[in-house]
Amino acid sequence: KECDEDPPGPEHLEVLSRCFGHKKFRPMQWKIISSIIKDRRDNCAIMTTGYGKSLCYQFPSTYTGGISIIISPLISLMEDQVLAMQVTNIPACLLGSANTKQKQTIDDIFEGKYTLIYLTPEFCTGEYGKELLRTIHKELSITLIAVDEAHCVSTWGHDFRFQYRKLGILKEIMPGIPILAVTATATSSVKYDIIKILKLKNPQVLCSGFDRPNLYLSVFMKSGDVINDFRKCMDRENGMWKFMGSTIVYCITRKETETLSAVLSGMGIKCLPYHAGLSLSVRKETHEQFLKDKIDVITATVAFGMGIDKPDIRNIIHYGASKSIEGYYQEVGRAGRDGQPSTCTTFYSNSDFEIHRYCETVERRIGGNKDNKKEMADMMLTYLRSRNCRREFILFHFEGKKVSVSRKSVYTCCDNCTRRVSTPSDSATYEGLDENGKYDFTEDARTFLAAVNELDGKFGIQNYILFLRGSKNSKIAGYARSSLHGSGNHKSEAWWKGLGALLEQENYLEKQYRKVNTISYFLTKVSKKGYTFLNNIKNGAKLITTPTPEL
Ligand code: ADP
Repeated sequence: KECDEDPPGPEHLEVLSRCFGHKKFRPMQWKIISSIIKDRRDNCAIMTTGYGKSLCYQFPSTYTGGISIIISPLISLMEDQVLAMQVTNIPACLLGSANTKQKQTIDDIFEGKYTLIYLTPEFCTGEYGKELLRTIHKELSITLIAVDEAHCVSTWGHDFRFQYRKLGILKEIMPGIPILAVTATATSSVKYDIIKILKLKNPQVLCSGFDRPNLYLSVFMKSGDVINDFRKCMDRENGMWKFMGSTIVYCITRKETETLSAVLSGMGIKCLPYHAGLSLSVRKETHEQFLKDKIDVITATVAFGMGIDKPDIRNIIHYGASKSIEGYYQEVGRAGRDGQPSTCTTFYSNSDFEIHRYCETVERRIGGNKDNKKEMADMMLTYLRSRNCRREFILFHFEGKKVSVSRKSVYTCCDNCTRRVSTPSDSATYEGLDENGKYDFTEDARTFLAAVNELDGKFGIQNYILFLRGSKNSKIAGYARSSLHGSGNHKSEAWWKGLGALLEQENYLEKQYRKVNTISYFLTKVSKKGYTFLNNIKNGAKLITTPTPEL
């Protein structure tokens, strides 16, 4: 029998309103909850951020009077939930290294004092934790085991956690208890892994859909001038540049959160940095100031993440590319939980991916699939460079099929949709796009590489562009008689800059570090791959790729 045939009864709605303060269940919440309390069925649920995952695991035991065991990767998040539950009079506790009164808590558990028990994965896969869970299972009535952020079990996911991998033992330790695995982001291979690793039996698999129609997505390349970049997301009010509403600026490195926070403070904006290198008390204080609107902006690493429940975040800015679409979508998902229009803007440069790779080698993070990380980064880059609807791209990524987005207007969807209508001349440049959205850059690449070669690889990108555009700049005066001088006049400086970055990204150009006395700088030269390409154009070599937003 399909559980959604039965609507919630007055007894369910009474508990919902008395304990949680909500009038009705969201459709997927009820499907999950009723399958747990009526059919004791396993569930694998993918719910977009803000849909209301927590109710799905907090309601069942509150209603039945039993216990829900909740496993989550983040202690701070669980601490917040335990506190929130205490306020609403639902008794909850946390077991894990953070609990200094563990013995007392355990005694209280056996006296039936708790409805919700939050556990770290380390605790419940350790010998002591396993034994404790066996005893709880024997002596008390467990309604549900919930595994939050369930994508962490999968090496295909963006946030693999080794301890999560061992959670398959839950079915052995506590047989017969329904498991609810929930996550906000999962591709079909991650979903498959969750079901397999947690040993879910005939699970109900549900997905709320991934579309977030109130988020406007846009992408720029970093211009090299941070203030100039930020102003693209700001408004001017009484002579001051400001972000409209609460804003998170995600940075790749801790150092950058500090630098950018200083830049923004210098612009008169109330802003603080947040990263895992700061003490817990500083982090808590910053988080609280943000929640209470005492500061407008947090510049953060992705450590500022799960557990931010501020409904009115208006802007998420990525100053640097995310490592994967999954991570990116989870981060932007923190904007506009209240359903109001919000913007998500990425500024990226090709070197962001090198920084990610470098950090990973330094951290030597265990686990994860190396090839898969590269694949995820490549997909992210394809997204950033895409000239098609960004929301369609993301939905396609998660759902594995073309999904039509609910687009109220192109002006509320993404930069590419807006651009398509507002600057028809721009799209005319791309009449040559093939059905995959790719463009044949062969001729332009030949011109660029030939120019670099002509100038003997002695300069940085900017000077080659001056040369191509026929500048009389004294630095390149000696090359003014070359037939290539001015041969790129038909395209803008910004366009050539975009092409230069693309050629560098695809390794047709390479950078060489030089240091003269105290001055260090980079030269850009044609690489081996670049020369091979130039030599083979006559044999049909081509450069066909997706244009970046700048091109
Ligand atoms: P997430 O899925 O991102 O974990 P939460 O569980 O934090 O979402 O819930 C997001 C917001 O939605 C919270 O503010 C919560 O109070 C609210 N919410 C959840 N369920 C309902 C409901 N049935 N009716 C109204 N609001 C709800």
